[in-house]
Amino acid sequence: MSKKKPSDFSDAKMEKIVSLCKRRGIIFPSSDIYGGLNGCWDYGPLGVELKRNIKEAWWKDTVTSRDDVVGQDASILMHPRVWEASGHVQEFTDPLVDCKKCKHRFKADSLEEDKCPDCGGELTEARNFNLMFKTTVGPVEEEGATVYLRPETAQGIFVNFDNVQTTARAKLPFGIAQVGKAFRNEINPRNFTFRSREFEQMELEFFVTPGDDEQWYEYWRDARFQWYQDLGIKKENLKLVEHTELAHYAKACVDVEYNFPFGWSELEGVANRTDFDLKQHMEFSGKRLNYFDEVRKERYIPYVIEPSAGVDRSTLAFLVDAYEEEEERTVLHLHPRLAPVKVGIFPLLRKLGQPERAMAIRDRLKRHFAVQYDQAGAVGRRYRRQDEIGTPFCITVDHQTADDGTVTLRHRDSMDQERVHEDELVTVLRELIFGK
Ligand code: ATP
Repeated sequence: MSKKKPSDFSDAKMEKIVSLCKRRGIIFPSSDIYGGLNGCWDYGPLGVELKRNIKEAWWKDTVTSRDDVVGQDASILMHPRVWEASGHVQEFTDPLVDCKKCKHRFKADSLEEDKCPDCGGELTEARNFNLMFKTTVGPVEEEGATVYLRPETAQGIFVNFDNVQTTARAKLPFGIAQVGKAFRNEINPRNFTFRSREFEQMELEFFVTPGDDEQWYEYWRDARFQWYQDLGIKKENLKLVEHTELAHYAKACVDVEYNFPFGWSELEGVANRTDFDLKQHMEFSGKRLNYFDEVRKERYIPYVIEPSAGVDRSTLAFLVDAYEEEEERTVLHLHPRLAPVKVGIFPLLRKLGQPERAMAIRDRLKRHFAVQYDQAGAVGRRYRRQDEIGTPFCITVDHQTADDGTVTLRHRDSMDQERVHEDELVTVLRELIFGK
């Protein structure tokens, strides 16, 4: 249970981002006043907005704006047989070694040499360590009451295949999407929120007719790669990496990787999981999880394409990519859809009725956007404070507002200013944030 201090992050840019997150209420160590809990993080007032905006962007782009995907929300605790059928009880392990001298623990396959990287001591033999957290349902710790905190959201979708398909009257190809927490007892949580023990996933299981699977795999690979770019991540910081060694259930698998300060690392995996999962659950539950194709007049088990993304890893990538230090300011160039605060609203002076007018604008705009009112300090400093948290637009009420009803609209990235009538603000801002 050690608290990650900024100095634990080798890269200077990461240190700055970690410290900005702490200072501005984006991300804190979990249980901070008790020294933190390794692998767990809390999102503060601005972080929770950023993370919600990312999840909402994913949900809108993957579910509500499509005709062929529906959502669901399964429980975190599931029947223990689920994890036997999925292979997690047997296979979801990492090889663990201990240093005999300093007692530090490592994932065996992450070590370059056969000795402790911290003290050079001798290592124990590797033994397999299951990454699932166990807990007990009911008051008595007895056999049969052991359940797991789900290590992925996907299985909650597979076990509901029939419930969802029949109630939504869905026809192939169609997808079921879910966003939710997952838990993994990672041996070595590290790189800030990148590898945590509690995290959130955004997963889609897209069911297709066998034979159409390769085409849909390519479709989702390209769509998911594009999604990060559409939300502002620079193309040169993203790449697709096809797996050459495949898990036993997969026919193809590709990772979307981001160029983090600690190296290229996985943001999302897209896999062709064939009919493995539905077949397994059919066998273990004895329930029919296949599909009647009315056109072909036959029953078969669909294949599934799975894009599986991490909310926390995406949040970190969006932060890293947006971060820039300029001569006079630190700025987060977050996409307006993702920015935790969309509009900063200021009176130029704390007199002449300007605060009242600015507050009236705040009250009007807050029904449409996340806004922040600020009247403290010089206006230049107020702009800097908003730049640092990625607020894309600021509005200032000044002397001219009293004469003609216009305010200054200042753009974060260009720092250009224009005058807009206060009655037009909602329309103008909506277009700037969400597009035409
Ligand atoms: P890794 O190889 O980095 O451990 P994985 O291949 O095991 O990841 P998946 O099982 O494919 O990951 O999970 C899908 C997504 O869930 C990942 O792409 C990642 O975004 C997220 N994820 C997985 N493990 C963690 C973790 N420990 N902390 C934060 N996010 C995670």
